Amino acid sequence: MRVSASKAGLLPRCQYPFRDATPWDNTPPGRAAEYGQRFHDAIAGVVDPAVVPMAIKGTKWLLDRLNHATAWLDAQDFPTAPQAEVAFAYDWSTGTSRVIGKNIGRKYRQHGKTDDEIAGSADFVVREGGVVHVYDWKTGKAVTDSVWPQMEWLGLFAARAYGVESVVLRPLHVTDYGIEDGMRRELDANDLRRVTEGIRRDVGAIADAWPEPGEHCDGEWCPARGACGLYQIRKAG
Ligand code: SF4
Repeated sequence: MRVSASKAGLLPRCQYPFRDATPWDNTPPGRAAEYGQRFHDAIAGVVDPAVVPMAIKGTKWLLDRLNHATAWLDAQDFPTAPQAEVAFAYDWSTGTSRVIGKNIGRKYRQHGKTDDEIAGSADFVVREGGVVHVYDWKTGKAVTDSVWPQMEWLGLFAARAYGVESVVLRPLHVTDYGIEDGMRRELDANDLRRVTEGIRRDVGAIADAWPEPGEHCDGEWCPARGACGLYQIRKAG
């Protein structure tokens, strides 16, 4: 299973890259992605004392954002202690999910993820009775509606792992002047069923998929662009 929550926006539009035989590009992450990862590594230890803080090689970009995020966290009144970098494994065929670790990076297989499971990590979660709040730091220039597919998947994975039917999704835009926290979406039992069925439909279509080019090839960072003939033809035309 090559699907992970980070590809939730791509899977419904084109299942071809997720076939086992489709070659993926080995492009190293760009500078923006590298900076974003450094922020995530550093802030996890601030959110959750159980996560060992990373040694921070300070740049103004990073330190400014860490200061803003720390101040934002200090101003919150969370009902329970936040848990950072919670890794979930969701079985697409049964619709069940489990927590397989915390702060494990991308080492999902080493922590027991099976072939039928889809992995995804929430930046941090806060549990409150029958509700789970899923937070995601976003360090790009803008935050658009493209964040929702991944967040809905993470919300579903968390809901099934914790046995709740109500999820609050909270993307947090980390900017150079502060944290923008105005985006919010709530999922109820019907929404969770919709997300479950979408995953089942799209994963089930992978085996017979063919390339479906469109804006999503670049917009959703398809990892198969280098070897995708239809993408190359579209690009050249
Ligand atoms: S480049 Fe586009 S068409 Fe080709 S596999 Fe990726 S998403 Fe599909």
